[in-house]
Parts: sequence; C-alpha cells; structure tokens
Amino acid sequence: MRRFLVAGNWKMNTNRASGQDLAAALAENAPAAEDGVEILVCPPHPYLTTIADKVSGSGVQVGAQDVYFEAGGAFTGEVAVDMLKDVGCEYVIIGHSERRHVIGETDEIINRKVKAAIAGGVKVILCVGELLSDREGGNTESVLDAQMSGGLADISEQDAKELVIAYEPVWAIGTGVTASPEQAESAHEHLRKWVANRYNSTFSDQIRILYGGSVKADNAETLMGQANVDGALVGGASLKPELFVPIIDAARKLASA
Ligand code: PEP
Repeated sequence: MRRFLVAGNWKMNTNRASGQDLAAALAENAPAAEDGVEILVCPPHPYLTTIADKVSGSGVQVGAQDVYFEAGGAFTGEVAVDMLKDVGCEYVIIGHSERRHVIGETDEIINRKVKAAIAGGVKVILCVGELLSDREGGNTESVLDAQMSGGLADISEQDAKELVIAYEPVWAIGTGVTASPEQAESAHEHLRKWVANRYNSTFSDQIRILYGGSVKADNAETLMGQANVDGALVGGASLKPELFVPIIDAARKLASA
C-alpha cells in the first residue's frame, strides 16, 4: 500500500518566529514518524535550518521549495542540492506552477533540477498541472503528458524510485476553487497510466501522486480518498496548525481504515 504524504508548501510566507511556532505545533502533533502518513513542511530557504532544528526527532520532515541544478560556484542567488541535504532536507519541490508560470521555468530546466536532486539524494516532488485555458480547451491530458515527458526525460526507473508526482491544476492553486474528486481522480489515473507506459505497471502502482489546489479540512478526506490520490500538497492551509492538522488527520483516518 502507498503511504500518504501530506506536504505543506509555505511559499514566500512566514518569518523566523512564526515559522518556528508553526513547526513546533506540528512537531507536537506528530511527535514520532507514523506508519500510514508522512508529514513534510517546505519553508522558505532562509528558514530551513531553523525549522529543521525545530522538528528534529519528530514525525515532521523538512523539504525545500526549489533548487538549482548546478553543484556550486558562480550562480548568485541559487541554492545547490548538497546545501539542502546539509541542512536536513529530505525533499525538494520542483516545477511548482508558480515557478513555471511566474518565474518562467521550462520543462528543460525542471528536468535538469530533477536529475540534480536525484543524483544528490534528495527526494523530488515534481509538480505538473494544466492552466484553466488548457482544461477548457480539452488539453489537460496532453499538457500533463508534455510536462511528465519533459520533466522526466532520460530518467530511469531506478532514478525515479524516490520520486513523488503532485498534480496541481493551476486554476485551483490559491483560488479556493478545488478540483472535484472526479476531476482529480481522472487526472491522477491518467498520470499513473503515463508512468505505467513510460516505465512499468509495478512501478506505477508504487509511485505516489499527490493532489494540490485549495486543499482544506473539509475537502481533504474526499480528495485523498480517491483511489489514485496518495496525499496532498497544501499551500495556504499549511500556514496554520489549526488548518493543516485536520488535513493530516484526514490522511491518518484514511490510512487506518
Ligand atoms: C500549492 O502551493 O502548491 C498549493 C496547492 O496552494 P493552495 O493549497 O493554497 O491552493
């Protein structure tokens, strides 16, 4: 059975004090690693060390929101995979829609980042998702296919072992509009089939596919209860323990059912 992953993407929010408070509350809620649910927070880069210290020894892991593909050197402002590892990051989010559509990252850049993270031993959450215009034009699946092919170009099954996919329809991110459980399940099923075709069905049965896009306490259980949804990538609702813990609880409930 696939283990649920509930990940919080703090984006460019929190400061040192508020991030520490949030992390402490989550660590208190999850004092030890849990069998059925993996819990992750992804703070802004400057706070990674502080937050990693705060959750150390608890069931909460730390990840980064982005990484650069070069190992080091003259790349002003960028952060390398080894640096993330050095400060205790287990995961890195790559290809978030804000990086694709606000910063302008291409599938080629995303692919280089995915390769660098895997080579450096940091697990990847690869985000894919269509714009509203793609969905309305009937192009959701072709957009997902292109992002998967681009992001995972030249990546072997062995290298993809620690990969997690996050399906995040762009029209649902930060908008309060959530994909219906049917829309989410249909996209997740499609992505799993893509993995089966590109790799094999054993691997596609194992890979985790998270849903992201306005996940909240009141929709988390239904969304994560879909057959092909293995957890959630949560933005806004990950910034307050009283909003995030109920989402973790929904995963705990499903995992123990
Ligand atoms: C996200 O940032 O990945 C996200 C899904 O945001 P939100 O939950 O706020 O829609």
